[in-house]
Amino acid sequence: MINRLRSIRFRLTLWYVLLLGITLLGFSLYLFFELRENLFNQVDHSLQTAVTQALGKLEDTVPPRFVTQRDGGALNVGLLESGVALRLISVSDGTLGGYGDYENLPDWVSLRAGYVTLVSSGAIWRVYSYPVQFHDERVQVWLQVAQSLDDVYDTLDDLLTVMLVGVPAVLVVAMAGGVFLADQALRPVDRMTRIASGVGADRLDRRIDYDGPPDELGRLALTLDDMLERLQIAFETERRFTADASHELRTPLTIIKGHIEVALAYPRHANEYIETLSAIRGENERLIRLVNNLLYLAKLDAASLKASRESVDLTELLGLVVEQMRMLADEKQVMLECECDQLPQITGNTDHLIRLFLNLLDNAVKYTPAGGQVLVKAEQQDGKICIEIRDTGIGISEEHLPHLFKRFYRAKDGFKGVGLGLAIAESIVREHQGELTVSSVLGVGSVFTVRVKR
Ligand code: ADP
Repeated sequence: MINRLRSIRFRLTLWYVLLLGITLLGFSLYLFFELRENLFNQVDHSLQTAVTQALGKLEDTVPPRFVTQRDGGALNVGLLESGVALRLISVSDGTLGGYGDYENLPDWVSLRAGYVTLVSSGAIWRVYSYPVQFHDERVQVWLQVAQSLDDVYDTLDDLLTVMLVGVPAVLVVAMAGGVFLADQALRPVDRMTRIASGVGADRLDRRIDYDGPPDELGRLALTLDDMLERLQIAFETERRFTADASHELRTPLTIIKGHIEVALAYPRHANEYIETLSAIRGENERLIRLVNNLLYLAKLDAASLKASRESVDLTELLGLVVEQMRMLADEKQVMLECECDQLPQITGNTDHLIRLFLNLLDNAVKYTPAGGQVLVKAEQQDGKICIEIRDTGIGISEEHLPHLFKRFYRAKDGFKGVGLGLAIAESIVREHQGELTVSSVLGVGSVFTVRVKR
């Protein structure tokens, strides 16, 4: 029940009914008082008209009288029909005569001209008093016209009854309509909630698949579906990565275990132990390399790079990396050259950028046979800095190219790499808001291109 009271559906309906109630109440009160004012004005207006008519029927006698019975009769019928009573009243002698229902009026004389509301024997009268002017100023006679306000109050009572019954009835209907509308509008939200609550690490393939109009809820459903898609990809990548990492770690560990078991099977010569230990050392180095690379990737994923950015002189950095690789290239009899223009400074992380170019150059030298050539070429292109690492090595066949930057992917077995160098390179370039691309022809060579903003 509490949950229901807290629901948007309930609050929406409540606000809707509340606002409608306030509006209806305001409108009803305005209508009531406006009508009341109008009705009173109408009565006052007809009283004034009656006074004007009656003054024309007065004889200039002392005390004054209404004119002959024939004319007066016509006035009498008209006044009776419109419910107006009319009388002449003297301050000293009381009522001198009148028309209509004047005998029921209270004996009251106003001291000044104007309107007044009087109650007499249960009836409410609106009375207009007008002093009649004579040559003889001693005579003080007033002409009074009055109309019962019973009809006016009956009309106002009827309107009040309609309002008292009508407003709550409208509110009840509005509430039912509000519940229905809120229910209709929020139904997709219920569906999204149900689906979202069923999503777990093992059920990331569920989608809302909203088929309604592209309104606010449609956009929300689409955004949630996109988010689920991204989550699913991220989870699957993570899962694959863990499986691959375990596999990669297990291989050298199994080899080490094999070496140890063979060595321990029976006593051996010292030379055999040395052989076994150096094999174990080789595997151990591979393990260390793998673990270091994994740690490096984890650091990149945690985006720690953003925290340490500085201005980097790429020309100098590339020169350093090329010099660092020169010994290895000479050893392999690979010609290593660098054609770097004077490049502008970029904002980045020096350590990571060194790692990026070392990885690419290391691969280029590693996969280029003796007599081959590796060229590092850097220049500015369309407002970007473009660095190419071009080799005349073994090349990569087309089917491997799309997967090359995936973690643990190796195009060629037999080489001692762990398949993380390019994944790390790609992550570093991405962290620098750049782009890493590759083109290669099998048996001819490869070109890795890094593009970063100036
Ligand atoms: P590895 O440690 O195995 O070199 P990388 O991620 O650096 O891992 O490279 C992935 C794969 O891409 C390598 O196994 C290799 O087959 C291929 N590769 C990378 N660079 C080159 C290159 N310059 N020439 C030919 N093949 C390359």
